[in-house]
Amino acid sequence: MKIHEYQARALLAGADIPVPEGDMVTTVEDAVLAADRLLADSPPVIVVKAQVHAGGRGKAGFVKVVRTAEEVREAATFMLGNRMISPQTPAEGLEVDRLLIAEGVDIEREIYLAITTDRERRTNTLIASAEGGVEIEQVAEERPEAILKVPMDPLDGLSAFQARDLAFKLGLKGKQVRQFVGLALNLAQLFLDTDASIAEINPLVVTPATDAYPDGQVIAIDAKFNFDDNAMFRQQSIAELFDPKEEDPDELRAKDAGLSFVALDGNIGCLVNGAGLAMSTMDIIKLHGGEPANFLDVGGDASQEAVTEAFRIILGEKSVKGVLVNIFGGIMQCDRIARAIVSAAEEVGFKVPLIVRLEGTNVEAARNVLEEAQERLPTMRTATDLGDAARKVCAAVA
Ligand code: GDP
Ligand code: MG
Repeated sequence: MKIHEYQARALLAGADIPVPEGDMVTTVEDAVLAADRLLADSPPVIVVKAQVHAGGRGKAGFVKVVRTAEEVREAATFMLGNRMISPQTPAEGLEVDRLLIAEGVDIEREIYLAITTDRERRTNTLIASAEGGVEIEQVAEERPEAILKVPMDPLDGLSAFQARDLAFKLGLKGKQVRQFVGLALNLAQLFLDTDASIAEINPLVVTPATDAYPDGQVIAIDAKFNFDDNAMFRQQSIAELFDPKEEDPDELRAKDAGLSFVALDGNIGCLVNGAGLAMSTMDIIKLHGGEPANFLDVGGDASQEAVTEAFRIILGEKSVKGVLVNIFGGIMQCDRIARAIVSAAEEVGFKVPLIVRLEGTNVEAARNVLEEAQERLPTMRTATDLGDAARKVCAAVA
């Protein structure tokens, strides 16, 4: 599960990681009011930032550094009135309906700091670079040696000596080192406490020297978090940060029905039971030259109503030119799937070719149901095995 930057900043602040003040707003008027309030403290600049679950905002023009309330009005009007398109968004972009209006800072340098699980090493790992900022992907690609990795001990977490060593490698000096060490330790603890899968601060900045901070201040001005969905049962306060607006509506519908739906790029809709069967179904479709449009996993024990909802979701996708039903009935009873096919046929209708391969529990009853309903299912053909099913559906959409 992802959250917005303004929510991530609140988590950081709660973990004693310095972040500039700011307000989330949803209208241009509130953006201006927030700017007026922040300007009262005379910060060096104000930043207006689109709040969407995608990065690359700076380059897309959806992070604006400004000085006056009038410029905030202009930036807010632009962001709330245009879709944001970046390499991390779908091609048609994302609608923006939340903004963060934040106190900005002067920047001496930008550092990259993140924590995620390194699956190869099987440890949570700190990832850092002295060359943080909007070009970090390019740095990682062209000069991987500029990316530093520090594995966290599974029991002890991040140690102070590791954080200090990293601070020196990042070229931090004087009082910056102690600030960085405290911040990295707090971030590591926050990562564990919240069951995060990614905690990223990019950029973590060093500000120019002031009287209060003679070596400058180390401060987070952007933050991105992902959390382990399977941990949400014990992360109530994180779960409450969920913003359904940022999710794929079909994936949400499926989730509400207890199904799991994954959208892909092809044109064959797949209804299967079990993730393993979903993977092999997609493999065999590809083997026969087809491309899956999605897969909908109805799981082991979905009700007939849930399976009907599954067909509604698949048939509602414009990209779907054919449907492959591949069920191996263990706990799932094949006749339940067959009845759901019939009710979906009556309700929405299968205008596209439908290839059905059923095997396992109650398969005879299922075949009878489908045979009886054959007239209402003119586009349906049955398949004898998985290879046959894949060949038929690929031929049908070709
Ligand atoms: P992202 O592009 O979605 O990662 O958005 P960021 O919040 O990281 O902002 C992108 C870039 O805008 C940063 O790397 C900074 O260079 C710049 N920026 C963001 N906030 C400030 C600020 O408070 N002051 C200044 N001077 N620049 C900022
Ligand atoms: Mg950033």
